[in-house]
Amino acid sequence: LSLSFLSVPFSFETGRHGSTGLFVPLSPPLDPEKIRELQCFITLSKKLLVMTGAGISTESGIPDYRSERVGLYARTDRRPIQHCDFVRSAQVRQRYWARNFVGWPQFSSHQPNPAHWALSNWEKLGKLHWLVTQNVDALHTKAGSQRLTELHGCMHRVLCLNCGEQTPRGMLQKRFQVLNPSWSAEAQGVAPDGDVFLTEEQVQSFQVPSCARCGGPLKPDVVFFGDTVNPDKVDFVHRRVKEADSLLVVGSSLQVYSGYRFILAAQEKKLPIAILNIGPTRSDDLACLKLNSRCGELLPLIDPH
Ligand SMILES: [Zn+2]
Repeated sequence: LSLSFLSVPFSFETGRHGSTGLFVPLSPPLDPEKIRELQCFITLSKKLLVMTGAGISTESGIPDYRSERVGLYARTDRRPIQHCDFVRSAQVRQRYWARNFVGWPQFSSHQPNPAHWALSNWEKLGKLHWLVTQNVDALHTKAGSQRLTELHGCMHRVLCLNCGEQTPRGMLQKRFQVLNPSWSAEAQGVAPDGDVFLTEEQVQSFQVPSCARCGGPLKPDVVFFGDTVNPDKVDFVHRRVKEADSLLVVGSSLQVYSGYRFILAAQEKKLPIAILNIGPTRSDDLACLKLNSRCGELLPLIDPH
């Protein structure tokens, strides 16, 4: 295998606000031997399934929850919203949407980084059989990926809890602005789900619109903690795993069962598994190859042919 593609210059610092490095855990320098092993893994794969998690988006400036030191669990006392709290309580929804309204302009403006672009390129070149993401940030879609399942939904869509109608999140932002003409607040940090930090007073004056069709409560079209992934979607991904000949995990610690179950399925099928993630994962012992590197630094080095 030639490593000549290693000399191609590239940049992984894409954060416009200079925040990129803030959310990416420290990692050792790239090990040429490990790069060669990943290149081998990718070259041998004819039907590659890739599963991505929050770790692929930290280089786009979106913090994850679980990374040591830089993840939200380590830096703050904020915890993700629970599905049943959201569904049961109008107050919880008001607080959620107020924060989400403030965080939206920044959250929706994040751009794909070289790791997203690399995976989209692999798809175009026929290397990628299917891409499964646990992220809700739409960065794979922005990079042009189409053979894609968003396991936990997408923040860029809104769902009516009553009639099930789906609408674009951008449209809801306009409705928020009309209903809250004098309402303003400063975002003090954006979580992976687009959430921000606000005072109770700010929240209580925030007006939340309901479904334009039926008047039902609105929810982002994402799977909150405590909710389950749609069974049809799970079956769909299981079928893609059955068709695949290898599995690459990118930027996930695999702590959440909804993604971890596909690793177990791949293991049962005896698929070779490679894991690219800074820090330990739940499946390190199942992987034939583990790389502790920045996704956006490593993936563009791999030749998908
Ligand atoms: Zn509705």
